[in-house]
Amino acid sequence: NPLQGAQFVLAAHRISQLPPDDGAEVAFAGRSNAGKSSALNALTGHRGLARTSKTPGRTQQMVAFSLPPLPQGEGEAPLTVRLIDLPGYGYAKVPEELRAHWKQEIDAYLHRRRSLRGVVLISDIRHPMKEFDRMMLDFCFATHLPCHVLLTKADKLSRNQAAQALAALRKELAAGGTQATAQVFSSQTPTGVDEARAAIVTLLQT
Ligand code: GDP
Repeated sequence: NPLQGAQFVLAAHRISQLPPDDGAEVAFAGRSNAGKSSALNALTGHRGLARTSKTPGRTQQMVAFSLPPLPQGEGEAPLTVRLIDLPGYGYAKVPEELRAHWKQEIDAYLHRRRSLRGVVLISDIRHPMKEFDRMMLDFCFATHLPCHVLLTKADKLSRNQAAQALAALRKELAAGGTQATAQVFSSQTPTGVDEARAAIVTLLQT
């Protein structure tokens, strides 16, 4: 697992508090309760890495996790790599002011962060493409950032229903003219974990 060995670095309320903008990083975004923390834990193979919660709406922060450096070509220094967990909202009632703060902060982060290589968007397969997801896709489109969508909680649907949801999303993404990719995922069964890890490593090395 190339994402094994992830470690908590810091939690930040604004982008200026994030680790130095060097190397490469991938950001995780998702509506609250979509299953983002569970996905981070499954992908890194670290059960307690991101705090999962049944009660959405807890304090929101951006959280930086370091990964072991990725080996590069001969004669090149290994690449410093990170995962950034972006705050999610949209499920529980979040005060309008806080929502606006994070919308602006996420937008600024996507525009300014030079080490950012792409976004992993976590979306509940039963309720995909809510307002938060559309906003993230719009931001990625505007900043030319690759976006990879994990349709998570796939274990809640039959195989057939999950495949249909994926096909519908891919069709919608293509119609919207985005370069975004998508896959089925579950932190529980687990499903699609290797595929997602490979997508993340590809983003980091782009
Ligand atoms: P976050 O708010 O996006 O970080 O969501 P969490 O990871 O905390 O998950 C929210 C809820 O969904 C928790 O009750 C999780 O146990 C549940 N959950 C997350 N991922 C999955 C999944 O793949 N399958 C199922 N069945 N439940 C999940």
